[in-house]
Amino acid sequence: MGARDGAAYLDRLRDDRDVWIDGERVADVVRDPRLGRGVRSIAALYDLQLDACRLDHMTYISPTSGERVGLSHIEPRGIDDLVRRRNMVRTWSEWSAGMFGRSPDFLNTMVMGCAANADYFAHNQADFGANIQRYYKTVREEDLCLTHTLVAPQVNRAVHPDLQAGGEVALHVVKETDAGLVLSGARILATLAPASDDLFVAPSPSRSFAGQGNPRALAFSIPVASPGLRMICRESFDIGRSSFDHPLGSRFEEMDCTAVFDHVLVPWERVFLYGDQDYCAALFRATNCFNHPMHQFLTKNWVKAEFVLGVATLMAEAIGIAEHLHVQRLLGEILHATLTLRAFIRASEADATPGPGGVWAPDTETLLTARSYFPEVYPRLVEILQILGSSGLANIPSEASVEASELAEDISRYFQGATVGGRERIRLFRLAWDIACSSFGGRQVLYERYFAGDFYRNVAVHYVNHDKRPYRELVEAFLAREPSVLPESAIRHQMSADF
Ligand SMILES: Cc1cc2nc3c(=O)[nH]c(=O)nc-3n(C[C@H](O)[C@H](O)[C@H](O)COP(=O)(O)OP(=O)(O)OC[C@H]3O[C@@H](n4cnc5c(N)ncnc54)[C@H](O)[C@@H]3O)c2cc1C
Repeated sequence: MGARDGAAYLDRLRDDRDVWIDGERVADVVRDPRLGRGVRSIAALYDLQLDACRLDHMTYISPTSGERVGLSHIEPRGIDDLVRRRNMVRTWSEWSAGMFGRSPDFLNTMVMGCAANADYFAHNQADFGANIQRYYKTVREEDLCLTHTLVAPQVNRAVHPDLQAGGEVALHVVKETDAGLVLSGARILATLAPASDDLFVAPSPSRSFAGQGNPRALAFSIPVASPGLRMICRESFDIGRSSFDHPLGSRFEEMDCTAVFDHVLVPWERVFLYGDQDYCAALFRATNCFNHPMHQFLTKNWVKAEFVLGVATLMAEAIGIAEHLHVQRLLGEILHATLTLRAFIRASEADATPGPGGVWAPDTETLLTARSYFPEVYPRLVEILQILGSSGLANIPSEASVEASELAEDISRYFQGATVGGRERIRLFRLAWDIACSSFGGRQVLYERYFAGDFYRNVAVHYVNHDKRPYRELVEAFLAREPSVLPESAIRHQMSADF
């Protein structure tokens, strides 16, 4: 089958998936007014990859079927392949202004990374290694779109998830059968679930899973349309407004869901890890499988920061504030964020190394540092938009007012900018508002803070696991060294020569 177009992607979503929003079961995610435009934007990404002039840029030839498959599935065999993949990710990210956190490339790279580490899965149970490799090939050849969940619901973080509410909350095995594992309980958050073919469940690397209790450690994948699996959505941030009014929310609603399992059967051939908590929880530390999605989302973040820089620059020009030193300083701060992200990406690629199966992965230390950088910097970029936009982010009549003939003169006179007319200024500032002030924009900030785990604990865990010996030795060597300064007479002599 190979790389899909948008129509093929949408067709496959028309199944009996159990998706709930606003107290209703969604009849058709493609047409639902709260979900459909976001879903169709994902379809547009699939169309983009088959655009005749981009085929070589977005796809490659499958080593098994000989078909063209999406480049985000590639097993990188060197730095060139990592750069190729990054350029492909950039193209999808540019199309969505970096606002699709969970475009399919994110999990495509992770499933490939897991398959490259098949030995790790096989060590848990012999069949599991073959299962993850077979699954990777299916995802690649059928160009599946995946969502994933790693975390138990936020019931009570003071106790182990397995002990919450009598053990009924966290996802757990109810029974083992010849056919597979039967699961009940819930996981959060499954972003993009209504628009996904499969749900990939991985063990949480989070410290919240440490402690006493039943491990219930699992990794597996199942179709979103599995019997007994229900997705409960938050409210939609696409409230049906035009792309003028809500330029981002009207296009890039990717939806976050709680995945509720009620006696869901996971066939054995879809199980990748099971039972050994410490072994499961170590997946992301002991293998380089997460390096690949980190490389993907670092690229997405780079584009997102560039987009914010573009919006901020246009805003500053539009209202004639770009010549002020402090405004330039704020714009420079965004610029530095974009260049820092670029440097992280290039460093991770330059220091890439071959891993299991000869698959190359970008450098772990750089990626771990970069992962914790964006959650801190993105809220600041949004804050800068608010500082620069000021009342302009609230003074944004909707499209209906802009188009009203009775208001035409007012719009043109009172809403014009230094470099743009009234309509154009409102359009630009509505875009800035959708990044910095709307519900959609608020969720983007929350997403960037948390989508890759708790950034406080991520930084702490990185520090704890990092080899600190070289830094200690540097200081110890300094302290042990006899002062080797020049004798005072030599300094006097040198000074008299200088002056
Ligand atoms: C918009 C959005 C989309 C997401 N999409 C996905 C997705 O698609 N797939 C997925 O798997 N996950 C997703 N996530 C979930 C993400 O993985 C979690 O939010 C993240 O792991 C943090 O866990 P938590 O939200 O349960 O926070 P909690 O662990 O409940 O933490 C809440 C606060 O309490 C503190 N805290 C809690 N426990 C401890 C502790 N033991 N020690 C110290 N501090 C503690 C934290 O530092 C934090 O400040 C998404 C999250 C968001 C916000």
